[in-house]
Amino acid sequence: MDVMIIGAGIGGLSLALSLLEKGINATIYESVREIKPLGVGINVLPHATAILTDLGLQDRLRETGIETKELCYFNKFGQEIWREPRGIAAGYPVPQFSIHRGHFQKILLEAAQQRLAKDSIRFGLSYKRHTITTSGKVAVWFEDRNTNKLTGPLITDALIGADGIHSAVRAGFYPDEGPPRWSGAVLWRAAVESAPFLSGRSMIMAGHADQKIVIYPISRNAFERGKSYTNWIAELTLGQSGDPAPTKESWNKAGKKEDFLPEFKEWVYDWLDYPMLADSTNEIFEFPMVDRDPVEAWSFGPVTLLGDAAHPMYPIGSNGASQAIIDARTLANFIAEDKLDIPGALKNYEAKRLPATAAIVAANRRQGPDEIMQIVHERAPNGFKNLDDVISKEEREQIAAKYKQLAGFDHATVSKVAQSSK
Ligand SMILES: Cc1cc2nc3c(=O)[nH]c(=O)nc-3n(C[C@H](O)[C@H](O)[C@H](O)COP(=O)(O)OP(=O)(O)OC[C@H]3O[C@@H](n4cnc5c(N)ncnc54)[C@H](O)[C@@H]3O)c2cc1C
Repeated sequence: MDVMIIGAGIGGLSLALSLLEKGINATIYESVREIKPLGVGINVLPHATAILTDLGLQDRLRETGIETKELCYFNKFGQEIWREPRGIAAGYPVPQFSIHRGHFQKILLEAAQQRLAKDSIRFGLSYKRHTITTSGKVAVWFEDRNTNKLTGPLITDALIGADGIHSAVRAGFYPDEGPPRWSGAVLWRAAVESAPFLSGRSMIMAGHADQKIVIYPISRNAFERGKSYTNWIAELTLGQSGDPAPTKESWNKAGKKEDFLPEFKEWVYDWLDYPMLADSTNEIFEFPMVDRDPVEAWSFGPVTLLGDAAHPMYPIGSNGASQAIIDARTLANFIAEDKLDIPGALKNYEAKRLPATAAIVAANRRQGPDEIMQIVHERAPNGFKNLDDVISKEEREQIAAKYKQLAGFDHATVSKVAQSSK
């Protein structure tokens, strides 16, 4: 059986590795000629770590990233609102990792290159279009990035579009969809070596819905040297939800300090000096906060979508990569169970994953677990003396628990995933 995956991102590579576990060797077609370690920090939540552990990759993640110990929320004055342990510290059977996206992609790529049959990952081939043949197979055409010539058709039993937020496979099914939908916020992202803060393995968020910072360390190497390779994101609301985005989203667009840093000049706490951290950074990327409305269907006969191609979501709640990994495991299971009915397997995958991820897209539009900061900001815009007078412990607990359950990383669900991988 032949499966073709479009895109060697985190979703596409996880799918190839998951299919191989089931004895199916897929071929990946990637548009770039060479994978470079692009991006900054990303989180792998325990439900996704359980799957990667099953794929034998937990040690590689531990060697490279940080085992996140706690997640803390603060108001813009640096007053603590919520603190919860994460990963092993929270009693999960597996860790939560914070890691450089490019290094994480490389771990997956190296595993795929070692395990898949020779020439199963083909670079410099950009998916253009496909048709379904009279025998129900998929005929696929690519643009060769070396010659700029159309090449194909290549014939496959199943085609999976894991080609990210600008998915060409998705655009073939939804030609009128247009660009991603802007939330009105812009993110400035970067990573820089600094002194460790709090536990040295803490992820923090401070602020409220219209102005926020998200900061966490992402390198084990720096941690072992007594330093922190610190990923930071500054977020500002500059427009209305649904407005055209001010810039086209590109993961490599350079950002300028003067566009956001003056707004944060007072965000200096006794445990972290954010303006100093940002000012000591050389390379900053700018990205509008975008997602897409959930669509009615991902699977069309022997073709389906996965990861950001299927359900691009705001980077709130640290879920983008994790959900792509869960898609991959779910899809591999359905294909392996139903090799003789690929369209049926792809529809079963869609039935399981589309509603689940659409609910996360919707929750993230309402701020997801970051809602706690907005509630405190609205009730106590000038700070507080006693947090319990602003928001009760029960309400804080409820917000945190609700999102974990919705996104599938509550204790019960993760233990089930970890158990099924033994
Ligand atoms: C360069 C880059 C940097 C990123 N940096 C961050 C970050 O710092 N923090 C963060 O939270 N998220 C980042 N992301 C997004 C994050 O990786 C995804 O949200 C998440 O991991 C889901 O992964 P995915 O595999 O679905 O999509 P992606 O990781 O976007 O991967 C899609 C892949 O498909 C390839 N592709 C696209 N079009 C075609 C085509 N027509 N034919 C063949 N291949 C194609 C792309 O080159 C890419 O390798 C980044 C994505 C990219 C591509």
